[in-house]
Amino acid sequence: MMFSFKRRKKHLEPARSSFDLSAFVSPTSNYAQPDWAKISAYQQQTDEDPVQFWNAVAHAWTQRVASDTHKTLQSENFLLVYPKTVSKPGMLLDYSEATRQRILRRLPGIALDEGHGIWVIFVFDNADLYDQYQEAAYGRASAIPSSGLFVNDGYGHFLFPYLDQGFSEGVVAHELTHALMSHLPQAPLWVHEGVAVNMEHDLAGSAPLEYDKFRQSQWTKATIKKLFNGKAFQDVKLSEHAYLTARLLVMSLVKLDYNRFTGFVQEARQEDGGFAAARKWFDVDLSEMADHLAHS
Ligand SMILES: [Zn+2]
Repeated sequence: MMFSFKRRKKHLEPARSSFDLSAFVSPTSNYAQPDWAKISAYQQQTDEDPVQFWNAVAHAWTQRVASDTHKTLQSENFLLVYPKTVSKPGMLLDYSEATRQRILRRLPGIALDEGHGIWVIFVFDNADLYDQYQEAAYGRASAIPSSGLFVNDGYGHFLFPYLDQGFSEGVVAHELTHALMSHLPQAPLWVHEGVAVNMEHDLAGSAPLEYDKFRQSQWTKATIKKLFNGKAFQDVKLSEHAYLTARLLVMSLVKLDYNRFTGFVQEARQEDGGFAAARKWFDVDLSEMADHLAHS
């Protein structure tokens, strides 16, 4: 799952230096989002190296969110906040590093991490904290329960509640795909979700493809619009079918021709649900294609 599209402000490298976050955060909540616009404006006025600056900000921010209950650990590309109950956080970082490389390899022309440094991952001890964080940080929880979330607003980061290593790997594969596709904010949500669920399945072995469930549900003229404008993904009744259909559409297009699929993804637009790009690159009507999937 994902929401909000905005490119991350700056890129990071592992570095030193500390940053006093107190002027840029709510004093009452550790989970409140720092004022990214204000920090960005402040950064423009300093002589400090931006990489070092944002690195220090990320560390101050993650320390604050971790507070007494969570710890932090860093690898080359990831800064992890994790609960003390996780005994081997290094495994999660290793998995994230390996998965980042696999996604970049498997999605040439689509996944990109150019110039990006540290990705911030928040792993919360339980679902309650995960919900609390969403309320405090974004002023709302997701309309439907989610297993993880990628947020590309201000400083890009992703979050999920901890269950076990296996669950975490599925979420990392899914959300990291979103992260590495965050340079494509104009692409429809179904394209992002379709690619992310397929990566989750291929790399982590989660998200089994439930054809039977898929065939039990049908799109109508009214509901299929919500698939292509993205609203179905936040609709309790439609979301499961939306994820499945998005995934099958992406699989079908990739199967037709991966190179054309990359052209499609670059040019697909939210405004028309990707219809024009699908006609141009594949000469297909997406509605008919979705309909065909249900009867094949
Ligand atoms: Zn997603």
